[in-house]
Amino acid sequence: MKLSYTSYRVQCTHPFGISRSTHDHYDVVYVYLEQDGILGRGEAAPSGRYNEYASDIIGVLDNGIVLPESMDDPIAFSEKVLPQCKGIKALEVAFSMAILDWWCQKEGMPLYQYLGADPSKAPKTSFTISIGDMDLIPEKVKEGALFHILKVKIGMGMEKDKAIMNAIRQETDQLIRVDANEGWDLDTGIEMCEWLADRNVEFVEQPFKSINLKDTAELRKKSPLPLIADENSLNSGDIPGIEGVFDGINIKLMKCGSLIEGLKMVKMARERDMQIMLGCMIESSVGITAAAHLSPLVDYADLDGNLLINNDPYRGVLVEDGKLVLPRGNGLGVSLNSIEEKLI
Ligand SMILES: [Mg+2]
Repeated sequence: MKLSYTSYRVQCTHPFGISRSTHDHYDVVYVYLEQDGILGRGEAAPSGRYNEYASDIIGVLDNGIVLPESMDDPIAFSEKVLPQCKGIKALEVAFSMAILDWWCQKEGMPLYQYLGADPSKAPKTSFTISIGDMDLIPEKVKEGALFHILKVKIGMGMEKDKAIMNAIRQETDQLIRVDANEGWDLDTGIEMCEWLADRNVEFVEQPFKSINLKDTAELRKKSPLPLIADENSLNSGDIPGIEGVFDGINIKLMKCGSLIEGLKMVKMARERDMQIMLGCMIESSVGITAAAHLSPLVDYADLDGNLLINNDPYRGVLVEDGKLVLPRGNGLGVSLNSIEEKLI
């Protein structure tokens, strides 16, 4: 098995703003595993929120990863490789994707089949309106017109958040999910949830800082809208502690570190009757397609990271009438979209 890797800078169509940061690009790292003429691909889209950076990922890879001799069992292979990633979840999941992409191609099956997911049950995805220049809102809403659901980033304080929502509501009556990205305090949360409930909003994601579960529990008692954990739901270990505090979880592969861990989170949330959303970072079609293979197993998809960039080098999952359409090829089913010398 041959390992290669390269970094790549994805460029945002509009500066991508959330309550705590704005970026016009992100650096991702592609990991490739090749053997017997089969190429497995994975993507790491590290998030600074979790102290993960592409430069650190390249450092770990440059130091060398020891690959097992053969891949007879993808789980056993993963168990030898992932612990070498120095705890960087984005790199772990890049390997998880590449290993399963390679394995499923070898076995002649799409990844969704390996994961036990029915592609006809893939959900609709939301399209994100990030925080930024208010004058851009009409243009951003127009870009999201083909989607049935918008995800609106807020968390800037009551006045600004209401101004953002009012500006969007002037343009569209589409269903909206809001994400405060830890930006509110309790009073703001209580008033905003009441206010948003009258404006065709489906749920609120991560109202408060992840350390503030006490206020989250308090808000949940008063909020007419369900609360979904994101920064409070990194991996399966977080789920027991937020049961009863949030109504649901947002699973992101870049946070949880493997497709198998993602499956475990789905199972644990189902056992607890919690709602499940599948989200993403700003990433290209390799990472988004990997997540999309899990999407038939969840309630809500927010898999639009590849749609918010203008230089996606890969093509995989598509969106038709707002719904995710999984590629039917074996493995991830992704292919190179543009000729980039360093990419394979
Ligand atoms: Mg979020």
